[in-house]
Amino acid sequence: MPQVGPSLKDKITLKIKKALRMNIFLCDSCKWDWRGACHNPERPNATWCPDYEKRGKW
Ligand code: SF4
Repeated sequence: MPQVGPSLKDKITLKIKKALRMNIFLCDSCKWDWRGACHNPERPNATWCPDYEKRGKW
């Protein structure tokens, strides 16, 4: 079953990142961050995304 929202762990991680003033936007490091590949309306400011894959990772 696909995940429909952030898990508790994801929410806690996001809060910690915000508190540390780290970059919270996933799209900046996502390999799908270009117009033809991603049609998610959250792009380019997604803070949680089920399709996220780190850029440069195979
Ligand atoms: S797949 Fe998700 S994280 Fe990646 S660019 Fe699209 S919205 Fe951003």
